[in-house]
Amino acid sequence: MKILFYDTKSYDKDSFTKELEQYPDIEVKFLKADLTPNTAELSHGYDAVCAFVNSNIGTRTVEILHENGIKLILMRCAGFNNVDLHTVHRLGIRILRVPGYSPEAVAEHAMGLALTVNRRLHKSYIKVRENDFSLGSLMGFNFYQKTAGVVGTGKIGAAMVRICHGFGMKVLAYDVHENPSLKGIAEYVPLDQLLAQSDLVSLHCPLTDNTYHLINRDTIQKMKDGVILVNTSRGALVKTEDLIEGIRARKFFGVGLDVYEEETPNVFEDRSDEILEHSVTARLLSFPNVMITSHQGFFTKEALANIAQTTLGNVRMFEKGEESPNDVHPQ
Ligand code: NAD
Repeated sequence: MKILFYDTKSYDKDSFTKELEQYPDIEVKFLKADLTPNTAELSHGYDAVCAFVNSNIGTRTVEILHENGIKLILMRCAGFNNVDLHTVHRLGIRILRVPGYSPEAVAEHAMGLALTVNRRLHKSYIKVRENDFSLGSLMGFNFYQKTAGVVGTGKIGAAMVRICHGFGMKVLAYDVHENPSLKGIAEYVPLDQLLAQSDLVSLHCPLTDNTYHLINRDTIQKMKDGVILVNTSRGALVKTEDLIEGIRARKFFGVGLDVYEEETPNVFEDRSDEILEHSVTARLLSFPNVMITSHQGFFTKEALANIAQTTLGNVRMFEKGEESPNDVHPQ
C-alpha cells in the first residue's frame, strides 16, 4: 500500500512516522502541498491519498485521483464538507475519516476561547507585557450560574456540555438528534429558545446545507444582548458580514473563533509578511472583543496520536474490505 500524504507539517510527519513503525508494509510520502486539482496529478502510482480539513477535494480533484487509480481517500480529520462525496462514490473511491480523535481537545479549546474573550486574557497578556497593570477594559462576568447553549451535541458538543456543566452553568442544547448521555446535565430546547436564553453560545454541529450560515442577522437578533459566541466547528456556520454587523451593534460581549469563512488560505500558513487586503478577517481582528485562533482546536498531543492510529487503522479496514463506522457516505 502506497499513500501520498498532502498538506503535511512537521508534527504530522512526527505522529505518523511513529505510528508507521507498526505498519512496515505501508509506504508513504509526505507532501507539503495541499490537495487541489493541480496537485492531484502527483498521486499517480499511489493507492491512496491522505488529506486534511482545507484540501480541495471537489469534483475535478476527485476525477483526477480516479484517473490516477486512487482507490482510497483518507481524511485525517472529522469534517468532510470539502469533499464532493457524490463524485467520490460514483467513481467507486472509498473515503474514511477520523470521526472523533479527541473531542475534549476541541471542547477544551472552545472553553479556552470563551474564557479568553470573557476575561479579556488576550488583552491582559499584551497590557502586562507593556508594564500596564491597570484593569481598565478587562472586566468579565462569571460563567458560574449563567446559561450555556451548545448547538450540536455529538462528540465535541457533548464534551463541551460536560465542561460547561463543570463550570456550574445551566446548559441548554440543540441538535437534530438528542444525545442520551447528556440526560440530567443538558436540557434540549428549540434553537430559538437556546439563542434567546444563553450567555454563551458554542457551535459544534457540522457544516451542511442545513447549517450553512446558521448564525446570521436573524439568529443574531434572537440572541441575548452581551452574549459570547464561540465557533470551533466550521467557519461557514457563521455569516461573517452579519457577525461583524452584530459586533458593531454591540450585541456580543465577546466572540471566539477557531474557524471563520475566510480561513482557507490562512490555515497553518505563516502570512506575517503579507498585507491582507480586503480581508474580513482583518476587520474581525480589529475588534477588541474578538479572539481568533487558526483552526487549532484539534491540536493536542493526544489528538495527533489518535489521528495517526485511526487513519492507519482505516487503511487496514480498507485492505480487509470491511465496513467501518469511519466510512463517509453521501448525505
Ligand atoms: P459529531 O458528528 O459527533 O456531532 C455533530 C452533531 O451535530 C451530531 O449530534 C448531529 O446530530 C448534529 N447536527 C447535525 N446537523 C445539525 C443541525 N442542523 N443542527 C444541530 N445539530 C446538528 O461531530 P463532532 O466530532 O462533535 O464534530 C463537530 C464538528 O466540529 C465537526 O463537524 C467539525 O466541523 C468540527 N471540528 C473542528 C475541529 C477544530 O480543530 N476546530 C476539530 C474537529 C472537528
